[in-house]
Formats: sequence, C-alpha cells, structure tokens
Amino acid sequence: MNQIIRNIRQKTIKSLDNTSRSGRAAPDELVPSRYALRVGDIDVLVISDGVLTPPAESMATNADPSVRAAWLDDMFLSRDAFDWALNEVVVRSGDQTILVDSGLGLEYPDFPRAGQLVSRLEAAGIDLASVTDVVLTHMHFDHVGGLLVDGVKDRLRPDLRIHVAAAEVKFWASPDFSRTAMPPALADVARRAATQFLDEYRSQLRPFEEEYEVAPGVVVARTGGHTPGHSVVRLVSGGDRLMFAGDAVFPVSFDHPDWHNGFEHDPEEATRVRLRLLRELATTGAWLVATHMPFPSVGRVAVAGDVFRWVPAWWDY
Ligand SMILES: [Zn+2]
Repeated sequence: MNQIIRNIRQKTIKSLDNTSRSGRAAPDELVPSRYALRVGDIDVLVISDGVLTPPAESMATNADPSVRAAWLDDMFLSRDAFDWALNEVVVRSGDQTILVDSGLGLEYPDFPRAGQLVSRLEAAGIDLASVTDVVLTHMHFDHVGGLLVDGVKDRLRPDLRIHVAAAEVKFWASPDFSRTAMPPALADVARRAATQFLDEYRSQLRPFEEEYEVAPGVVVARTGGHTPGHSVVRLVSGGDRLMFAGDAVFPVSFDHPDWHNGFEHDPEEATRVRLRLLRELATTGAWLVATHMPFPSVGRVAVAGDVFRWVPAWWDY
C-alpha cells in the first residue's frame, strides 16, 4: 500500500513539473500540503516540505531509554524512527513575500520524502521570483537545503534579501558538533550544506544581531540554543499573533520540555529557550507554528501543571 501511495505521489509531483512548464493548472496532490491563515493583515501559508525519519532516540538524548520508549509507545510512534514533519511558511505583509526556511532540498538522499518545497510552492501558485525576502531560523540542512537545489537560485530574484543572525553565519565558519548527538553522516551533510549555502548566497545575506523587522509586523529575533544564531519569527497584526519557532519546539517538548534533542548544539541553552518560548506562548495565546510539529503545525500552547499541552487549531475551511 505504501509503495502504491509513493508511486502515485511521485507521478503527481512529476506531472506538476510538466504542467507548470506548459502553464496549465496543476492537479492537486492526494494529501494537503498547504494551510493558509491570517494574522491581522498578514497572510500566512504553511507549506509542508514532506517528512524526515531521523532516529527516534534523537528526540530525547538525555532521557532514560525506558521512559523515552514509554513516551513513544503512548504516542503510537515507532521506537526506531518515525515520520517527522518538515514545514516552512510563506508570509505576505505589505508588498513583501517572505519565505521562512527552505526545507531539505536534495541534501540528504536517505530522506526521499522531503524536499518538496518548490513543487508545492508552484502548486500553491507561488512563483519563486515573487519572493522578496528569505528568513532562515538557522542553517541546518533541512532549513537551507531548498535554496541549494539546482536551478532554484536562478529563479529567485537577483535582489533577494536573506535574513539570518550574524551569530549563525559566524558559527558555521567553524561549527562545533561536540554537544550534538547527530549521526556522523548527518553532521557531514550539515557542514557541507552550510558551507555551500554561504558560498552561493553570501552577497545576498542581511545579517542581524538580535532582532530585525523584515516587514510590517514581521520580526525575526535570535534565541540561540539549538544553534548559536537560531531565531524565531514573530508576527503581530491587528491584535493577532503567531510565532514560527523553528527548531526551538519539537513534538516531545510539551510533555518533556527538558528533553534534549540530538540536533541541538547547546542542549542546556536550547532547553532554557524552549521553556521561555512555551511560557510566552501560553501567556500570549499566540498561534505556534514550528518546523517539525505535525502538519499543518498550527496550534496554541496551554500550561498543564509543570509541563505544557499542545492545542491544535481546528481547521478553518
Ligand atoms: Zn530542523
């Protein structure tokens, strides 16, 4: 059955490629891959890049293995590896179109079901040439990889601005993986992708120190933790709020905010950042969207005793 679905999906993606060149309307996929909402005057579109399957143990490197296994069992997730969402967002504010993160691209071939950003943007009617700004929460390969796909740079505007924390750019000149628990192959991919990204896009970088207002009501702010320059994007308009939290919050983070993720370069600081952001979200009632929360990854955060509770949005048709 899975093979059949994969085949259909591949054919669908192929036909999207064909139709987009011929200018005909693209057929829809069998599963939804985009979800639109409004934050005051700001349009937000969550786009799924697909799914990754990292080792399940990387969700909680400091947990007792039996406690971790029990949590996975409770969530009906495999103890070995499970499908982990990979989301990006497109934000329209004023006359700017802002892409936040770019997905996997082709950076890690062992994750063949991710890297679908470009075809899904096309299916949503979004031309790469209409993107005025890119914001990167950080420079891991599953966030910059989409920009490295052959032909993508040529289709982006020559005056595209890419906003990323200065600390992130500095970090990847000589990255430290000593505190991560990444499989070595992934650490190599991470180094290579960040280096290639800086080589190809350096002249378009607009590094910021702590915070930068990219467009009206769209502010990117450095948090550090996951990586030294990791950042979140806060949208505020007409009394509505949304935070794109990048890799500061994972599906396990509500029940176990103190669990370290194997991809965190400073796990203790990442935990402090996570707790601060989750408390902020519970207080403000802002929508949360995060890279690796299950699609469409739109929900709110409630306090549940000493921990938190994820309250998914009811889809608005
Ligand atoms: Zn990530």
